Amino acid sequence: MSLPNEGLSRDGVRAELERARQGDLPWRGGRILAYVYDPGREVEEIAKEAYSSFLGENALDPTVFPSLLRLENDVLGWVRDHLRGDARVQGSFTSGGTESCLLAVKTARDWLKARRPVARPNLVLPVTAHAAFHKAAHYFGLTPRLVPVGADFRVGVDDLLSACDADTALVVASAPGYAHGVIDPIGAIAERTAARGLLLHVDACIGGWLLPWFRQAGHPVVDFDFAVPGVTSMSVDLHKYGYCPKGASVVLYRDEELRAFQYFAAADWTGYSIVNPTFQSTKSGGPIAGSWATMRALGAEGYRRIAADILDGTRQIVEGIEAIPGLRLLVRPDANLVAFDGEDLSAFHLCDEMRQRSWFVQVQLGYHGSRPNAHLSIPPQAARFAPDFLVDLRASAEASRQLPAPPSREDVRAMWDAAASGGVDAIFAAAGLSGTAVPERLAFISHLLDGLPPATTAELLKTWFSRLYQAGERPSG
Ligand SMILES: *Cc1c(COP(=O)(O)O)cnc(C)c1O
Repeated sequence: MSLPNEGLSRDGVRAELERARQGDLPWRGGRILAYVYDPGREVEEIAKEAYSSFLGENALDPTVFPSLLRLENDVLGWVRDHLRGDARVQGSFTSGGTESCLLAVKTARDWLKARRPVARPNLVLPVTAHAAFHKAAHYFGLTPRLVPVGADFRVGVDDLLSACDADTALVVASAPGYAHGVIDPIGAIAERTAARGLLLHVDACIGGWLLPWFRQAGHPVVDFDFAVPGVTSMSVDLHKYGYCPKGASVVLYRDEELRAFQYFAAADWTGYSIVNPTFQSTKSGGPIAGSWATMRALGAEGYRRIAADILDGTRQIVEGIEAIPGLRLLVRPDANLVAFDGEDLSAFHLCDEMRQRSWFVQVQLGYHGSRPNAHLSIPPQAARFAPDFLVDLRASAEASRQLPAPPSREDVRAMWDAAASGGVDAIFAAAGLSGTAVPERLAFISHLLDGLPPATTAELLKTWFSRLYQAGERPSG
């Protein structure tokens, strides 16, 4: 497949892009309860205009584009204030939560190595910490030390601290964790890490911007931010409940001395000198301007209004789930993230059934004492759609009970062993995966993955994606 010789007109490009988009789920209005954080049409338009008008500007060089320096400093100032950081707190604008978390880990590793030589630093993580930290450990040569959590999915302070030693670069806690929406005991953890001179990162990627608005609305929210003395860094995504266009997050440090370990500069080559605060070098002005515009357009008042809607929607949905016979929450969340399953039905069938009814509900595999479940990130529109959602959820639960029972974990292990001779292809064939088609129902595949050890599941997923990403091929189905 080579690039067509003749260029396409503006209308031609638009038509082709719309065709490409045909198979996507429609995300406006909140029917996708993950991945998308929709501020509504008006703010979306303002953000798009700002984003596209700064697409060409390059944040690589603030001497050429002081505009982007100003916009970034504004945004960082707003986030710092919101998270009760004092004037010493400094950070960076990044491309997303993963980059913010990766940077926090790299910074901590380099901070530790500057103090004394450490052959193999470790990263102390509750099992509920986001996978981005596993990625960081993998990329930057740290050993992840996984700490189990309690029945309420919060990590125990003693458990976390006893996993730390002299080679610990960073301890991580979540506010809240993505999977269950609960906040780790940050205050108690921070007291102990500070006493031992350990760095503590609070991953507030999903909830950091939203929780203070909840608190202002009268919802009880524990201290999780820079108001807690031992918190040394935080990650906060703007492209989640900041409703900013994608490619927007912030990482903040207690002070500039700590942030210094994040920066990279190189002059030892024949080209322009490089100073990179973050991973990117050439860095589009679009996400920065889009974020500035979204935040400024909404204002504190706008965020407060949306937060009140989300609180209302979350209450309706949490109470609604509890009222549907057979459904149960894994835990009552501290925020607007809900994990639930069924006593007598497969949570994965339930996700499929909801998809048949045009809702996207995310599958979460059952690892580390968290049962296989369905996850909701409750969006801004939830207060309005909650009644419809609950009607469809009830119907989906009924329908799920009629579907064939999913394979048990024992069945999956047996299948896996039997297929071992046939290799991965046999597993893919059994799961109905071939070529670049994505099956309509995913419950069987999810149960398959759920029954395998995490490392095997990860290998299978890499193989599957590798088959999807084939240069020159177009996805079918
Ligand atoms: C979403 C999320 C991340 C990763 O962020 P991306 O923007 O998807 O890279 C990290 N931590 C938590 C708690 C999250 O919810």
